[in-house]
Amino acid sequence: MIPFEKGQDEFANDIREYAGINFNTCLHCKSCTNGCPFLEGMDYAPNAVIRLVQLGQEEAALNSSTIWVCVGCNTCSSCCPMAIDIPAVMDGLRKKALEKKIKVPEPDILNFHTQVLNTIKKYGRNHKLEIMMRYKLKKMDFLSDMGLGLKMLKKRKLDLTPSKIQDKSAIEKLFRKKNSSRKNNSRSKRLQFTFFPGCSLKASGHENTLSLLKFCELVNIELTELEDWNCCGSSSAHSIDLDLAEKLPMRNISLAPKGVSLLIACPSCFVRMKSMYLKLKSDKQLRQKYEDLWGKSFDETLEIIPFFEIFNRIDIKDHIERPKEKLKQLKVAPYYGCMLAMPPDLRFEKSYAGVLEKTLGALGADVICFGYGTRCCGTYLSVAKPRVAQKVVNEIIFKAMEAGAECMVTACAMCHLNLEIRCSLENPIPILHFSELLSMALGEADRKKWFPRHIVNPVPLLKKRGLISS
Ligand code: SF4
Ligand code: SF4
Repeated sequence: MIPFEKGQDEFANDIREYAGINFNTCLHCKSCTNGCPFLEGMDYAPNAVIRLVQLGQEEAALNSSTIWVCVGCNTCSSCCPMAIDIPAVMDGLRKKALEKKIKVPEPDILNFHTQVLNTIKKYGRNHKLEIMMRYKLKKMDFLSDMGLGLKMLKKRKLDLTPSKIQDKSAIEKLFRKKNSSRKNNSRSKRLQFTFFPGCSLKASGHENTLSLLKFCELVNIELTELEDWNCCGSSSAHSIDLDLAEKLPMRNISLAPKGVSLLIACPSCFVRMKSMYLKLKSDKQLRQKYEDLWGKSFDETLEIIPFFEIFNRIDIKDHIERPKEKLKQLKVAPYYGCMLAMPPDLRFEKSYAGVLEKTLGALGADVICFGYGTRCCGTYLSVAKPRVAQKVVNEIIFKAMEAGAECMVTACAMCHLNLEIRCSLENPIPILHFSELLSMALGEADRKKWFPRHIVNPVPLLKKRGLISS
């Protein structure tokens, strides 16, 4: 038995307060550990980190690589029988480690997050090319991934110039340090939404945005881009600056016009923004902080919805004749990544499990189940721990190919990018965006703008299947 020493309780209490959750109900059943796709890159298993905190083993917990390798994919928390928000514990531990200036055991991961936040500070949105250049410069590593970088530039996955917000002073205000006050956590009717694309769709996944806008136009949905939106903070703000992780999504919420639902295209931005919205709804102190920052009251009536919600509001059959013939038995493996694995505070939100299968099946695709459709793609480990990400990505794509898929489809631009750039299998299958397949089913495909941006060219397959003409 490990004896308790003075201060041990204090450490566990601090982490409990930072994370805003109680992890003492942990049964140590190891379900989290068994589900974690990145266990290989960790020194302690996720449940062992929780044990370290419970036992007040501050030094071991704060020096652990696990708290940095954890990407917050929520695979663990979605299968935890006690609904423990394990990524929130990791967030709290990273915050404590940074406050105590503990040497980060995964400097590449910290370097990556720092470069992401630096570009958000400059432009309000992240800029992948600058992030990569500065990341490499700091590492003094210019050769690894050079070929991949050139390929991404050629495919216009890396924009030379950054996309910027207009009100730079609003973002500068967010980066100014103060003591954190965080305590806890048509034929159918034309639909109108405010549209939040997120940085990935705006840059590397531009073909995702273009095809999504096309699809919405075809099904009589009007999207108005949220004016001057900023990056939601992504994993990087959560990893190294919890105060910013609150303020960046808060600003976006404050910009949303009243009376119009906010549609978020990127699943990961959706999780960040919806979580923040629910926290604002339930936390008076946080609401006060919001009102002080933006000088307006919080709109409790704002509805924030993910792209998948569209399929509950329209009937695709209203817009398409003989839908069953449209995707011509294309053998497609749907890939959700970790987007269905919600953190516990979103556990009671609507589940969209099965929406890809149901929609693609209704459009005549041959949907392939391959058992790896909800495996996390590795998110930023693709940059900071490419070998770990590559292994996961290869496994996912290999399983889809083995099950007979001739292509995969993603609903997240970040997953799409990772599956494309980190796959080292020979002759991998193409990866399509859900929005591209939807638009194609409705008879529209911009071959010149969408498909040249793919690393694995989908055109030969789509031509062979008669989905696009030559
Ligand atoms: S799944 Fe939940 S209860 Fe089980 S070990 Fe992990 S944190 Fe604890
Ligand atoms: S959030 Fe994902 S990476 Fe982090 S411990 Fe859970 S399963 Fe592993």
